[in-house]
This record gives sequence, C-alpha cells and structure tokens, in this order.
Amino acid sequence: MTTPVPFLSDNAAAVHPKVWEAMRAADSADNPYDGDALSGELDARFTELFGRDCAALWVATGTAANCLALATMVQPHGAVVCHAEAHIEADEGGAPGFFLHGAKLILCGDGHGGEGAKLTLEQIAATIDSIRDDVHQVQPHAIAITQASEYGRVYGRDELAALADFATSRNLGLHMDGARFANAAAFLGGSARDAAHGVDSLAFGLIKNGAMGAEAIVLFDPEQADLVRYRRKRAGHLQCKGRYLAAQILVMLEDDLWLENARHANAAAQEIAAGCGERLMHPVEANELFVRLTQTEREALRRHDFAFYDWGPDAARFVTAWNTREEDAQALGKAIARL
Ligand SMILES: *Cc1c(COP(=O)(O)O)cnc(C)c1O
Repeated sequence: MTTPVPFLSDNAAAVHPKVWEAMRAADSADNPYDGDALSGELDARFTELFGRDCAALWVATGTAANCLALATMVQPHGAVVCHAEAHIEADEGGAPGFFLHGAKLILCGDGHGGEGAKLTLEQIAATIDSIRDDVHQVQPHAIAITQASEYGRVYGRDELAALADFATSRNLGLHMDGARFANAAAFLGGSARDAAHGVDSLAFGLIKNGAMGAEAIVLFDPEQADLVRYRRKRAGHLQCKGRYLAAQILVMLEDDLWLENARHANAAAQEIAAGCGERLMHPVEANELFVRLTQTEREALRRHDFAFYDWGPDAARFVTAWNTREEDAQALGKAIARL
C-alpha cells in the first residue's frame, strides 16, 4: 500500500524538528507547574509580539484555551455571541457550557456558504438588538470570532477595529479563537498586531502549525491572568511539567517560526487553489480549501492516494500544513484541474 498524501488536517501534521529540539533542551530540571523559567518568559514574549500589555498562559488544547479565555468575560447567566458554525458551537463537545457553568451560546450567521463563517457587524448587531434587556432573556456578555474562520477566511484590521468598537460600545468582551491565527497573520502580511487588533483575548494556536501540545491563552487585560490560572488548575489543565509546553511556544515565536510555518502552509494552499478555478466554495486566504467535487471525482482523487475529508455530498475539504510538500500540493492542484 502506498502512503496517503495527507490533506486531511493540519492537526495531524508532524511536530516541527525545532519543537522537538526545544523540548529536549527543556530536559534540565526546573520548578514544576508554571514556576519554571520558560513559563515565566511568556508574558514578555507575547507583549513584545503584540506591542501591548498582555499575559499568556499555556494549555494543551484549543478547546481549553477558548473556554478558559471566555470564562474571564462571561458569567454563568450570560451568553457568547458566535457564528452558527463556530468551533465553540460545532466542535467542542459542549465544553463552553461546561467551563462557563451553563452560559449560553447565541448563534448568528447564515449557515453554510456566504460569509465563510465570518461574522459581520450587521449580523452581530441584529442578533444582539433582538435580545430584550430584561431578566427573562439571557444577556450577551461576549462576542467570539475565529481567525482564520472555519472556512479559512481572514478578518482584516479594519473589520476587527469595527467589531472591537462595537463590543466596547455594548460593554461586551471580544474573544478570538486563533487555532489558525498564524495562517491569518501570514495572510495579513505577517502582523500579529493587525490580526488580533482590538480583541480582549486570543486563543493563539500553535499545535496545527508545528507544536506538539501547547496553545497559548493571551489576555490583553493581564489582570485576568490570576483568574485563568486558578480556573486552569480547577479544570485539570495545569500540567506539572509545564516547561515543556512553554518551550514549544517560545521556540515557535523565536525567529518567527510560527509565521514561516504558516506562510509555507498558505503557499501550498495557493498551489492547490490554482487548479480549482470555479470549484472553490470560498476564497483561499489561509490553509484550507473547500472544493466542489462529486463523489466520482473524489473517488478518482483517492485512487491517486490523496487523503482528505468529504464536505457534505458534493464537496471536499483539503488542509495544508507547515510540512506539506510543494510537489504534493502541485500534484493535487493538477489532479483537480484534470478532472
Ligand atoms: C482545531 C481548532 C480548535 C482547537 O481544537 P482542539 O482540538 O481543542 O485543540 C479551535 N478552533 C478551531 C476553529 C479549530 O479549527
């Protein structure tokens, strides 16, 4: 059997060799939990990256990062406004309700297609304005957006500025699920500042982009760090060998490895997109492609060993990663073009 050519998901991509090296280098003894020197560097490194004060804490999953961050802004009787196809709604197994003690998700958005799971100010305002300000209705406490979105679309700086102004005017927190933040920042010219402009918290994803098991919760109100620290322990997410998580995060930030990896993945996605033409369901801005393909066409691609997920009955999803081989991306693009 030949090895499948992997376009299933970046969450299955290999660990970057520099991440393995950094973990080996963290072998020398240090304090447990987050009392080690590497964990102690995180706040400063992220403050430097974003050019504004922040605190950063590691966790092992994006789900925990999203939910612990949201817990800084959402009370149990409140709600998070998010897109109907947001990861927190569709792919976190009810974790937001669990971490937020029953707080509700209020969904907006137009289902499949359209905006590519990005929220517009109009959608958010319409959703929030339809909620009566009385005790019988659950009140929104935060807005959550995903950068890049569940369909690989990117919020630009101006869009984020408008969302942030709106959130401030309504006294709502603004959280960003950044499982593919690096791919979004790479699309925006490499600026972490622009890609997270105005948000109150960010789940900074690293695992899909080459780390092994560390994501960063970035809190732009550093005073919230203690709350998250206590909640992280209570949630069973305070790892005792925390220095290995911090090491992964620090090496990804060093010399912009996070951006280099994301640029590679995005470029591979463009190689594939070049062969897709009218089949593309969404503009390709990051590292995911949603492509109209019949079942027969998908079977033909699988006979050539391309591995990917079906996306409903008439489409497929392809995801590139930091280690996607250029020749594989080109071959897939050509194979789709030939269908
Ligand atoms: C992958 C992903 C996450 C994180 O998922 P975990 O499996 O919990 O690490 C969060 N949000 C989005 C949009 C994702 O694609």
